[in-house]
Order: sequence, then C-alpha cells, then structure tokens
Amino acid sequence: MAKSIMQDGKYCYICRKEYNINTVSGLEEHHVFGGPLRPLSEHYGLKVYLCHRHHNEPPLGVHFNATARWRLERDAKRAFDLRHGAWMLDKLIKRVQEEAPHAV
Ligand SMILES: [Zn+2]
Ligand SMILES: [Zn+2]
Repeated sequence: MAKSIMQDGKYCYICRKEYNINTVSGLEEHHVFGGPLRPLSEHYGLKVYLCHRHHNEPPLGVHFNATARWRLERDAKRAFDLRHGAWMLDKLIKRVQEEAPHAV
C-alpha cells in the first residue's frame, strides 16, 4: 500500500489542520478521490486518516460536507503537483475520466 503524501503520521488530518488537535484514535482511512479515481488515490498516496466525525458522519464528515471534501482535494492537488509538476493531477484525472466516461 502506498504511503500518504499528504501527512507523515497517523492522526486525523482535519483535526490537526483546522483545530490543531492531535487525534490518533478511531482513525479511518479516506481516499481523497473515490469511485473510478480510487486506484489513482491509492497508487499516489492521495489519502488521509480521519476521525469518524470528520470522515463519515454528518455534518462535518467529508462524505457529507462538500466544503471539507473540496479542501482535501485542493490539498491533495498541491501535494501532488509539488512532487510531479503543475497540473499533473488534473491531467491524470482527465485521462481516467476519458477512459471511463460513464463511471464518473
Ligand atoms: Zn478529526
Ligand atoms: Zn472516505
């Protein structure tokens, strides 16, 4: 399994980033880009650990909260582009979407 390129340890990404709290228990792994893009998230380490509240529970969880989801996607793009070059992630995502236009 690829290591996350978005965090260097096992803690809730959002608790640390938004609240400066170090939550290390009850963590769940979240792939920033899911569905047909999930293998891409896995391969390039575009995933984070989240506590249940920030992962899969309304209203804050990223599976319910579009703003929180968008922030994660933005951070993933930044981390990816730093390593692989500007707009590289957008190009990869576009390629996957073109290969499976009905799956997205
Ligand atoms: Zn959290
Ligand atoms: Zn998830």
